[in-house]
Amino acid sequence: YCGLESVILGRNVYYFDSTASTNQAAREIAAGGGAEGTLVVAEEQTGGRGRMGRGWYAPRYLGIFCSLILRPELPPTEAPPVTMLAAVALARAIQEVCHIKAGIKWPNDILIGGKKLCGILTEMSAEMERLNYLVVGMGVNVNTADFPGELKEIATSLKIETGAFVSRRLLLQRLLYQFEQLYRVWLDKGFKPVLAEWKEYCVTLNCPVRVTSVRETLEGWAEDVDDTGALLLRLPDGTLKQLVAGEVSLRTQ
Ligand code: ATP
Repeated sequence: YCGLESVILGRNVYYFDSTASTNQAAREIAAGGGAEGTLVVAEEQTGGRGRMGRGWYAPRYLGIFCSLILRPELPPTEAPPVTMLAAVALARAIQEVCHIKAGIKWPNDILIGGKKLCGILTEMSAEMERLNYLVVGMGVNVNTADFPGELKEIATSLKIETGAFVSRRLLLQRLLYQFEQLYRVWLDKGFKPVLAEWKEYCVTLNCPVRVTSVRETLEGWAEDVDDTGALLLRLPDGTLKQLVAGEVSLRTQ
């Protein structure tokens, strides 16, 4: 299992012993012309971020903290499903390496047994309706044995779930390979073929949910996800509301 099995993803690699945030490093590299497929990976993040400026716990040597630069020739409005591609890629890689099934929580988390194993943060740079680059960041809890404070209740790792040490190198290798397969399908055929598989892993569909944004909190039935990646929420008054991934948080009830 030496080397990478992907052709585009990981063709350039920036390795950091420690960095504030791989997404931040990748955005700087992308702004300086970093090529499609560039991988930024770090042994630890000292200022890792989730969405909405929340922190991400990224202890040294225990996880995969990485970001990819992508430059698909797509309008910015068609970019959001890339987060879902990353989720399916990781679920596939976990199945291959650990033989366990991960669950996807719309829009950007991977769970096992209801606890968060991975967060995905996609950031986009666009000008005049033209996509410049995407940075897809992933923080995966691999060999973390325990979590500090309130994370104990909500976070898990592959080591905790399987009882065994997991090779980060092998997992990253498979993640990049699977991501690349899905990326090619997305560029050739659109998001629909990937969406079907995404739904098989999703654990937050066909159940009651509460969705919170800065503006409002909505309760309803998570009915479906459409082929733009938006959640279709059936409200108590019977109407169907389309919620775009972004600044919203979802809780199952
Ligand atoms: P929500 O669960 O509300 O949808 P989110 O998906 O937006 O949250 P992010 O903002 O992407 O979550 O991630 C940040 C949150 O994840 C933090 O507020 C913290 O609760 C949790 N968290 C931080 N580090 C870790 C970690 N290593 N593993 C699991 N969860 C973490």
